[in-house]
Amino acid sequence: MKNTIETPMPLSEATPIDGSFNQLPLSPAMLATLQQLEYRNMTPIQAASLPITLAGHDLIAQAKTGSGKTAAFALTLLNNLNPRRFAVQTLVLCPTRELAEQVTQEIRRLARHADNIKILALCGGTPLRPQAASLDHGVHIVVGTPGRIMDHLSRGTLTLEALNTLVLDEADRMLDMGFYDDIASVAKQCPDGRQTLLFSATYPDGIARLAAQFLRHPQEVKLAEQHEDSKIRQRFYEVQDSDRLKAVALLLKHYRPVSTLAFCNTKLQCRELLQYLQAQGFHALTLNGDMEQRDRDQVLIRFANRSCSVLVATDVAARGLDISQLEAVINVEITPDPEVHIHRIGRTGRADENGWALSLCSPSEQRRVAQIADMMNIEPEWHTLNSLQSAQTQPLLPPMETLLILAGRKDKIRPGDILGALTGEAGFNKEQVGKINVTEQTTFVAVARDIAREAVRKLAAGKVKGRAVKVWILKDG
Ligand code: ADP
Ligand code: MG
Repeated sequence: MKNTIETPMPLSEATPIDGSFNQLPLSPAMLATLQQLEYRNMTPIQAASLPITLAGHDLIAQAKTGSGKTAAFALTLLNNLNPRRFAVQTLVLCPTRELAEQVTQEIRRLARHADNIKILALCGGTPLRPQAASLDHGVHIVVGTPGRIMDHLSRGTLTLEALNTLVLDEADRMLDMGFYDDIASVAKQCPDGRQTLLFSATYPDGIARLAAQFLRHPQEVKLAEQHEDSKIRQRFYEVQDSDRLKAVALLLKHYRPVSTLAFCNTKLQCRELLQYLQAQGFHALTLNGDMEQRDRDQVLIRFANRSCSVLVATDVAARGLDISQLEAVINVEITPDPEVHIHRIGRTGRADENGWALSLCSPSEQRRVAQIADMMNIEPEWHTLNSLQSAQTQPLLPPMETLLILAGRKDKIRPGDILGALTGEAGFNKEQVGKINVTEQTTFVAVARDIAREAVRKLAAGKVKGRAVKVWILKDG
């Protein structure tokens, strides 16, 4: 098979929005992967940016969270990559470790037809030495946070001479977090002839400054931040302060969302809500800044794989989180900043899903709702707690449970090995197995709640990759 499509179409003028990937100059193997991943059509930001970036131009792209920016740059950097050259050819800078992990995973997924491409996440919170050793083995693509990348550059464990693509993902957030100087310093160490892609959800002044300094004749693509009303259904409930926690439980029992992100304004409120929900039998977890990175990762995995119904978090703790399939966002209190509100509720109703944005509002918060309504240009829809179905319904259980296996990437475990063990000898079907996250030391496997115990028994009795493994079900708390 040939590697590229013979005559690329004149893409830049007339790419229809939501067009098919087939019109892009991508390899047949890449197109097949996209099909396997069920990426049937380009998202608008992909349709607008890929023709530009695949033609080699620098790009500034602005689009809201969840619009598919990762694949837009991933396809470009993979297209620029020479797998036979064992040197870092792409660097993606991300604001947080979680985002870096997510980006790494998305690139891995999109690169799965080419099995010799090495992708490495370099973030803080883990020791430098093993990272340096991995770099030493030859890496094609590095995804990391600016601080840690700077560390490796200054130690000489990472060099960028062979770099052809630099990506600044979530550039606005990196600036918010004070990374301007680090980004500038990294960019200065990249070869001049590289392609630079800058992605951002908003367009503050700093972005223009960054772009002017480090991009060459960039083309700009902007898709206005606007949530389609049809996708996010927003409702406000009037409550007294004393009833907030109870009201959250009522909302959960009434709407029965599989995954809910519940925003609190303070850490204290997070703690109280978590305790309350757990005492009521909900499967709830929380994220906060004091947690160890490992615990934080575990919470995110369990929430994203649908074995935890509610994630309780402050805005700070939820920063950088990207979880698709969020059926509901609950605002336990109304935030004083209407932009924060819009950002919060924008986390539901992604892709083609509908989402609920449910907000609890005390009489003293009415003014905040008025400001939000003003900014969003909506008429707030008020409902009463009495209209919610009372609590006689079944408890809300997440569809999955998470199994923890004590073996990971260091043992050369791949998701396929686990899926194979469960669907092979153990005799489960594919639909009963959910997300599989392989980390360095451990593997997390989501399985349907009703088979969890049996799956543990069979995995513990059998073998994974030819060896016995320790496995158990993760419980809350
Ligand atoms: P952003 O970076 O803009 O916030 P992401 O790149 O994280 O958004 O993409 C959001 C979700 O959409 C991801 O789960 C991704 O796998 C999915 N996605 C991206 N592109 C497509 C596509 N063309 N078709 C279907 N799903 C897509
Ligand atoms: Mg992104």
